[in-house]
Amino acid sequence: MTATPDSPLRLRPEIAALPPYRQGRPAPAEGFKLSSNENPFEPLPSVVDAVRNVAEFNRYPDATALSVRERLAARFGVTADEVLVGTGSVALIAQFFLAACAPGDEVLYSWRSFEAYPGLATVAGAVSVQVPNRPDHGHDLDAMAAAITDRTRVVIVCSPNNPTGVVVTKAEFEAFMAKVPADLIVLLDEAYAEFVTDPDAVDGRELIGRYPNLIVLRTFSKAYGLAGLRIGYAIGPVAALDAARATAIPLGVTGPAASAALASLDAEAELLERVAVLAARRDAFRDALVAQGWPVPASHGNFVWLPTGERTAEVAERLFEAGLVTRAFHPDGIRISVAEEAAIEPLLAALAPLAPTA
Ligand SMILES: *Cc1c(COP(=O)(O)O)cnc(C)c1O
Repeated sequence: MTATPDSPLRLRPEIAALPPYRQGRPAPAEGFKLSSNENPFEPLPSVVDAVRNVAEFNRYPDATALSVRERLAARFGVTADEVLVGTGSVALIAQFFLAACAPGDEVLYSWRSFEAYPGLATVAGAVSVQVPNRPDHGHDLDAMAAAITDRTRVVIVCSPNNPTGVVVTKAEFEAFMAKVPADLIVLLDEAYAEFVTDPDAVDGRELIGRYPNLIVLRTFSKAYGLAGLRIGYAIGPVAALDAARATAIPLGVTGPAASAALASLDAEAELLERVAVLAARRDAFRDALVAQGWPVPASHGNFVWLPTGERTAEVAERLFEAGLVTRAFHPDGIRISVAEEAAIEPLLAALAPLAPTA
């Protein structure tokens, strides 16, 4: 440990060098926050009631959220021990890194992908190995398989990929798994699974129990609209989940979060209707952008990807001036969450004059 130029304190240099967390800028009044892939619908009254009815918060929560694990186990056809509940699936990813990686071990993922992966890997003491996306913005699974080394401990497959929206197909995933050593953990990050409308897309639910090293990650944050309550889950082999459980900060999943998750599963039909509305809005928005001349890949998340390259910062700034807060990843592109319907027209109006000319 050494002091860094910015601080006399002895910090881990790789941690001190991490960019400070900056949450998306707040939307201006009358504007729209389209930067965090949040669900724009207000919580259902039944879910709000479920949260309100958890009044015993002088007590610690149930340490493993057993009620949620049992409920998910029944729906996925596994035992409750094959379900791990955490404070969002971001926390679960961190737990798997900590469980599997000694200092210098590698975690392998496609890039660009979820912006949380690099920082979580660094915190775990692991080395990120990033395999560039294909030109169509999907995972290059052949190149990823070829990048596995003796030091690789975790591979992440993100489908649909945040921020590009592109899915991995069932056939691609199965061909990939056939090449991956059976003792190497594969995390299938399906944070947006409920928004997928492509029948060829990989579906972790169909794969549960088929591979001894596959862990499926899902969350209540996006489709179910519980981002503020922090609850997600992993389904996979018991030994891996037990190891990940051991790395968690205990008692993170609160009673209100568990209660809201159960109420959301009760209200699933209603919530999935909202998801269908958002998926249709996404497809129409993407079509309109393509018609303007933007090379936007087909998305299966609740967002679309504008590959703006070197113009990224400039285009994002113009959107911001129009009251539209998006997530810019300079110099790659801009991720725009598909949320309120009222945001679509101003988005298209702001983007039309900026579209690439043929
Ligand atoms: C949003 C997201 C998650 C999980 O978010 P939580 O709120 O922590 O459950 C995981 N992976 C990806 C790719 C995401 O976009």
